[in-house]
Amino acid sequence: MDTIHEHATRLTEKTVATRRDLHMHPETAFQEVRTAGVVDARLRELGLTPRTGVGGTGVVAVWDSGRPGPTVLARADMDALPVPDAKDVPYASQTPGNAHACGHDGHTAVLLSVAETVVGMGDALAGRVVFVFQPAEEVMPGGAEAMLNDGALDGLTIDHVTGLHLSSQYPTGTVALRAGPAMAATDTYDLIVRGRGGHAARPQETIDPIVAGAELVQALQTLVSRELDPIDRAVISVTRFEAGSAYNVIPQEAHLAGTLRTFEADTRERLRERIHEVAASVAATHRAEADVQWTSGFPAVVNDPAEADRLRAVAARVVGPERVLEMAPIMGGDDMAYWLQAAPGCYAFVGASGGEATAWPHHHPNFDVDEAALPIAVEVLASSVVDALGGPTG
Ligand SMILES: [Zn+2]
Ligand SMILES: [Zn+2]
Repeated sequence: MDTIHEHATRLTEKTVATRRDLHMHPETAFQEVRTAGVVDARLRELGLTPRTGVGGTGVVAVWDSGRPGPTVLARADMDALPVPDAKDVPYASQTPGNAHACGHDGHTAVLLSVAETVVGMGDALAGRVVFVFQPAEEVMPGGAEAMLNDGALDGLTIDHVTGLHLSSQYPTGTVALRAGPAMAATDTYDLIVRGRGGHAARPQETIDPIVAGAELVQALQTLVSRELDPIDRAVISVTRFEAGSAYNVIPQEAHLAGTLRTFEADTRERLRERIHEVAASVAATHRAEADVQWTSGFPAVVNDPAEADRLRAVAARVVGPERVLEMAPIMGGDDMAYWLQAAPGCYAFVGASGGEATAWPHHHPNFDVDEAALPIAVEVLASSVVDALGGPTG
């Protein structure tokens, strides 16, 4: 029987070809029709019977060894971004305005090769693997929640969850992960300060929402600096402040908006509450009123410590222990968080920067992954799946 390394190596050309095909045909959130078709066809070739159209354009396929054992969920996201492709490469985007600028083309290609590896090793494995190809990681609410609401995991009891993100932040040949909170919960808010408009020369007859709003921007910053345990992490950003339209008019309202990023569920709750209280009291000080509307984003990505240890050991066997890096928490979010709520699991980053051309930040029009990272990602993810199943039984 071939080892996982032999499978991943043998599949390298196919993994790269699939990645390039998807890269040339990027589809944005919930539009992944062609992509889902490619996934469906490949999974069928492997003898699986995928469910398509789950949560829009999601695909789920269950591989069953027929022998009792754990059920492992492996997830890839499939969506591209509404970002132009500025690269001069033969596999550049053929869809103007869209590009795979986050590497999700790679994730999809990698998970397909992992599925092929698992099927190829099938006789030696016990348990089940649930392959999840999800749409729309880049928008809120994302494809994970849509798939779960559409019954993606109905009738399944998941024991382990695993997944990878390629990263231009780390060099090819490294794997980065951390136990515990790894990526932030991403909530957004809209905040209206209501005053009373009037003549700019007669402020005593008005309630100025701009002055109240300006003080509120300052006051919100003290929540993180003065009320949060410095060991914990959070960000409150005001990213929008709109008010008024003339030189001589005090407006009726000011509209503020922004984002709250947190890692701990109770911190998230407390800061949301405190933003309401501070908004109301600062506005009241100025005789104005404040109204806060929240849009809940993804929960935090939280890696189970035991699963993180397991993935660290698996990755060390693939890339060497000195190339498994401890990752700092990321203030960005990922709806992998929802799959990780289904069972203990770990989400890791696979280094995919091989030099200048592949060192661009994610979401940049020049973003590209180092394709040498793809077989490594296949081997790490397949090893994670097989290890969670209990390893080859034969
Ligand atoms: Zn992204
Ligand atoms: Zn991404």
